[in-house]
Amino acid sequence: MRAVVFQREGQMELAVLPDPVAATGEVVLRVHACGVCGTDVHIFHGHLKEGVNPPVVLGHEIVGEIVEVGPGVTQWQTGQTAAVDPVVSCGRCEFCQIGQPNLCPTATVVGYSRHGGYAEYVAVPASHIVPIAPKAGLKGGILVETLACVLNGYERLGFEAGRTAMILGAGAVGLLWNQMLKHSPSTYLIQSEPVAFRRHLAAQLGADLVIDPASESVAERVRAVLPEGVDYIVDASGDPRAVEQAIPLVRKRGTFMIFGVCPKGSEVRIDPHEIYQREMKIIASKMPPRKLNQAARLLESGKIDYERIVTTVRGLGEVAAALRMFEQERDRHVKIAITPQG
Ligand SMILES: [Zn+2]
Ligand SMILES: [Zn+2]
Repeated sequence: MRAVVFQREGQMELAVLPDPVAATGEVVLRVHACGVCGTDVHIFHGHLKEGVNPPVVLGHEIVGEIVEVGPGVTQWQTGQTAAVDPVVSCGRCEFCQIGQPNLCPTATVVGYSRHGGYAEYVAVPASHIVPIAPKAGLKGGILVETLACVLNGYERLGFEAGRTAMILGAGAVGLLWNQMLKHSPSTYLIQSEPVAFRRHLAAQLGADLVIDPASESVAERVRAVLPEGVDYIVDASGDPRAVEQAIPLVRKRGTFMIFGVCPKGSEVRIDPHEIYQREMKIIASKMPPRKLNQAARLLESGKIDYERIVTTVRGLGEVAAALRMFEQERDRHVKIAITPQG
């Protein structure tokens, strides 16, 4: 099969590998599509090494059709469409036992610890796929994993009806958060994003106010409409400066959620006195513990506008170009899908 193999920092190539075979407990998917994620870019540049096992086929936002079921797999049949839960946890440690496999210390990840979805076929544990209706298409299918992450964050946020919210960033993650909060009865939704194209999408999808943090004062614009601050602020930018700017904008009793992945070792200044005075919470959410079924149902329901979020579809031969586009052409592309059929 054709597959895009990550060799080492800065080096990735389209290669021919043997077709995978379903081992006991596994299925083989014919990949319909695989989403390009910031994580892939970090791995490509060598910024993320933990758990990365080259030479390895990257890509963890996978949807495909089951073409082979391995020994011992009874609940799946060939021909079914499924999305992949890429975090393969041990199932035995304390965190796995309490239903938090995202915190499992020995978890491996499909798409960098083991071969992923920038390929014609991928073998995955049958316990780590969920069904998704073909009508969601490749665009809905590749968002299952990302939306599952957002659903985990949404649950942890404990959003209360009638409150106000703000999202920092309007990439795929920020736009999915937009849709979750738009469908919740929030009274006012603000989104900040430096790229005009993405601000435009955020406004189209439901933000009441969009702010350009590069040319406007976020604090002034927020205070002009919500003088007391915002009840819930979610960082979906992974930008420490955005986090630092926004924490003082949380309203009394409000919550700030760290959801975007800031670079390791980054620091922000906070005033503990203010945190105390406002009795605010700072919480975080990491990866999707078992929310993929709900994410797939939501994408099938048509309530999440994935057509606008997945802006771009490219072939396997263009993965390196797609990573470049992801980084440098943020004004034209949001979520990019790679499809072996392209
Ligand atoms: Zn991802
Ligand atoms: Zn575990």
